[in-house]
Amino acid sequence: MAERHELPTVVFVAGVSRSGSTVLDLALGSNPDFVSVGELRRLQGYARRDHELSGALSTTSELRCTCGAWVDECALWLSVEREAGLSFRETPFKSGGTVLCRRAVQAAYMIAGPAAACAVGASTRCGKAELAVARNCFRVYDAIGAVTGSRYIVDSSKSIYHYALLRAHDARRVRLILLNRDGRAVTHSMIRGDRATHWAAGTPPAMQAARDWARQARSMRLLSHKTPPSEKVTVHYEEWCSDPEGEFGRIAQMLGVPELQPRLARDVRHNIGGSPSRLDGHTEIRLDERWRDALSERDLAMFEQVAGATNRRLGYG
Ligand SMILES: [Zn+2]
Repeated sequence: MAERHELPTVVFVAGVSRSGSTVLDLALGSNPDFVSVGELRRLQGYARRDHELSGALSTTSELRCTCGAWVDECALWLSVEREAGLSFRETPFKSGGTVLCRRAVQAAYMIAGPAAACAVGASTRCGKAELAVARNCFRVYDAIGAVTGSRYIVDSSKSIYHYALLRAHDARRVRLILLNRDGRAVTHSMIRGDRATHWAAGTPPAMQAARDWARQARSMRLLSHKTPPSEKVTVHYEEWCSDPEGEFGRIAQMLGVPELQPRLARDVRHNIGGSPSRLDGHTEIRLDERWRDALSERDLAMFEQVAGATNRRLGYG
């Protein structure tokens, strides 16, 4: 086991699904002193091999660690579990709060910041359970730091609300990468392949996917507002694909590390969650702009109606 040193800093990647967070996470985790764990908030679902609890988009993908083992058989996760003194099967790592409870914590965070969200959370039973989720995550971060000796832990759990919970627990140790991608690309990605069947009948999938994307993009903007500029960086997927060195330079600057290389190491990883492509070894930094040919005029018109203004605000027009 590595010698215990200072507690690690959490580098949280927030973004909507299908925005490239898996490759960004893997590339960050390929740097010395960094370890990426994927979407830590899905850990209990992975430990139980429970798709619903994991929140996985696909119910057919196997909930395995990237190394190929189940979480309860993976050497790294077993060591981390022992070090943390928690049962991953029994411990929640993602919000299970009611809508009302989440809204109260979220509103306090947006208006007055992490300390206020913590105070509001601590005033109700449901809010206490939400804060406990963040505390559990920190116990795992600390255990990962102790087991791997890494100073930076990359968590691409994506949910900006989850990020707010982490900040409410301990704002000093969390840094934010806000990952944006053209909403039309995300919409296209969400309505093809396996994911095409994910949508309710009655409303066109493109409309539902665009609405979903816009809602999450707005939450990201509102909830990231309380993070000081020196503790966050906004990355656009398209820029990161075309100039990975430049974008990683900006991330390195925010974190105060000399440099970050945007390479994808081929060594064994222990990530959970993320895009299914992480398991087939075909992850690479490559711009995917298939939406430009694939979305119909009708799809684009629907997107414009429900998400066009939000997309333009992010710089996509
Ligand atoms: Zn593993």
